[in-house]
Amino acid sequence: MNLPQAFLQRMQALLGEEFPAFLACYDSPHLRGIRLNPLKCTEEKLREAFPFPLEPTPFSPLSFYYPAQGEKPGALPLHHAGAFYSQEPSAASAVTALAPRPGERVLDLCAAPGGKSTQIAALLGGEGLLWSNEVVRSRANVLLSNLERMGVRNAVVSSCRPDVLCSALGGFFDRVLVDAPCSGEGMFRRDGQAVAEWSEEHVRSCAVRQGAILDSAVQALRPGGTLVYSTCTFSPEENEETVSAFLSRHPDFTLGETGLAGGRPGFFGLGETRRIFPMDGGEGHFVALLRRQGEAPAAAGEEPAPASASTRAAAREVWDTVFRAPLPELPLLEAGERILLLPRGLPSLRGLGVLRAGVAVCERKGRRCEPCHSLFMAARPQKLRLCLDLPLDSPQLAAFLHGEELDVPAQWRGYCGVAAAGVLTGFGKCSGGRLKNRYPKGLRTL
Ligand code: SAM
Repeated sequence: MNLPQAFLQRMQALLGEEFPAFLACYDSPHLRGIRLNPLKCTEEKLREAFPFPLEPTPFSPLSFYYPAQGEKPGALPLHHAGAFYSQEPSAASAVTALAPRPGERVLDLCAAPGGKSTQIAALLGGEGLLWSNEVVRSRANVLLSNLERMGVRNAVVSSCRPDVLCSALGGFFDRVLVDAPCSGEGMFRRDGQAVAEWSEEHVRSCAVRQGAILDSAVQALRPGGTLVYSTCTFSPEENEETVSAFLSRHPDFTLGETGLAGGRPGFFGLGETRRIFPMDGGEGHFVALLRRQGEAPAAAGEEPAPASASTRAAAREVWDTVFRAPLPELPLLEAGERILLLPRGLPSLRGLGVLRAGVAVCERKGRRCEPCHSLFMAARPQKLRLCLDLPLDSPQLAAFLHGEELDVPAQWRGYCGVAAAGVLTGFGKCSGGRLKNRYPKGLRTL
């Protein structure tokens, strides 16, 4: 592999006698990993269905290695269904350190494509709030699609500048993750573009940007809250130096232990931070945990004005055709053509580039209202009135993901979930023994 000479010299200076072991890793393929999504699937089911053996990683109990020679798993039906997320193994370390608990409010400030956000959502277990922000609008769409695929109900997805977002949401979060844009040295084995873009100047400019993002992030965190800073690069300027500079600018923060088992202590006197190199079983990550001193509850949310009677009636009508149990008593919001079922305790969403909040229940189409794909992705098959559960190797499942109609029992009428081995992957509408396919066109297989 052709790596920049200046990069190699810097790594030699950083690693000393471990440098040959580091360099030797570049002769073998990069490590592959997936992360179980416990919101939709169990480890037992994933192990049974995954075509390759899964080995645990030291970075998260949800994260597993699979063999490098294995096919990429993105085309598997369980991937479409959101049972797992493809993620480089060491990337799971930052959220393990963040350790969000059900009921908390968590901000993921640099969130696309959503690897860490979907892991936070898994640990929140549907309780509390995840706010996933991505400043680049086109990347925010990918983030939204991944959160929907993974069945996340309690998230807000926005595309906003960190300084604007964090000053509007002052003291609102218990935990904040800054997985910062970086020079990506830990991506070199799998991303030629990162190698091509690398320069010492790029490293320096990334460090400046990281400091600015962290300075914004502090505003959103309540006193007593936890901030995790992570990168997928090795340069000290973007890691220990960024953290040291942050600590001198913010004396109300202290460095804490990450609690991570994988990797090794950080350098330059910052042994509480964690570094992961390819010889530690990950492509490369740096994780620092920073605690804000003091203690205060997170700032209060703002209950939205109650939805109009016609909004609630429209949502209820669709809900009742899909589910056995009644519509939960949660706030509803009419956003464009869609009606959203919101998590409780949200702040005002105005002016923050919000793309989606909560679950889109239904969409108005002229005088009709139809359920949304995300409603089924976030549901459990046993809660639905109708569900067609298909084996993973069934031709009908492949046909459904391809966008085709399916045969169903003649007496089935109305909206029907479609599951892959018990994991919901979409829906259709049944009548006359046929299921009309509502799998979104952009997600269909070729
Ligand atoms: N956390 C993501 C995950 O696990 O999937 C990966 C995040 S990636 C390392 C950093 C993100 O920061 C990118 O999506 C990038 O678009 C975004 N970004 C770029 N410039 C930024 C800025 N000035 N402020 C905040 N985020 C920025």
